[in-house]
Amino acid sequence: MKIMVAIKRVVDYAVKIRIKSDKSGVDTTNVKMSMNPFCEIALEEALRIKEAGLASEVVAVSMGPTQCVDTLRTGLAMGADRGIHVDAPSPLYPLMVAKLLKALVHLEKPGLLILGKQAIDDDCNQTGQMVAALLNWPQGTFASKLVLDKEKNSATVDREVDGGLETLSLDLPAVITTDLRLNQPRYATLPNIMKAKSKPIKKMSLAELNVELRSDLEVVQVTAPPVRKAGVILSSVDELVDKLKNEAHVI
Ligand code: AMP
Repeated sequence: MKIMVAIKRVVDYAVKIRIKSDKSGVDTTNVKMSMNPFCEIALEEALRIKEAGLASEVVAVSMGPTQCVDTLRTGLAMGADRGIHVDAPSPLYPLMVAKLLKALVHLEKPGLLILGKQAIDDDCNQTGQMVAALLNWPQGTFASKLVLDKEKNSATVDREVDGGLETLSLDLPAVITTDLRLNQPRYATLPNIMKAKSKPIKKMSLAELNVELRSDLEVVQVTAPPVRKAGVILSSVDELVDKLKNEAHVI
């Protein structure tokens, strides 16, 4: 069985976000970009499945500008066998990515498609659900545990839901999206970073996948959250009680 993993290049989680002056989006000039953390978890899970002898190949795919190749190289250094870069203009909204993934699935025929539960740049949390619907495949979203049964060609997924865990049994092929507690992704070692340089990355165009990108969605504006007022240090409990009573009016 082949596993396909969708990995997105996003602004690194540790970067302080700056908004463009025209409010059209986030300024990514000279900003460190990394693999979306939930996609690292998705890739780690695929690698563990392969290492357990339950999959033969892990294919990492990424859509967007040329720099996505760097993200794919990181994925190959973690252990993916090969990469596919779909050259696509920004902005790419979840339905567009889902349509591209559907086309790639038809081409590659994986038994499992694993995605992050959400990308930390736009926090959409939509792509996995959309591609499952487009493919008419079962979906196990927010997975915190994934167990495959080779005989039955099925997967058991623990999902993190409000107030507990839900366990689902899915027939393969299926779509899985990964939650934070599924695993701890590995770091790429230096020898594997070197090895990754010779692993193949195929570049594909929208025309080759026969997907036309159109969106009914328009981002009107992106604004930073309001600046918080500075806090004050009080000298006594009496002063605190006085402020809570007479300024905040909460007691
Ligand atoms: P989202 O629905 O945008 O929050 O993204 C959820 C997941 O979809 C991500 O964690 C990725 O696995 C996948 N995804 C979204 N956009 C892309 C992209 N441009 N390239 C590859 N995978 C993507």
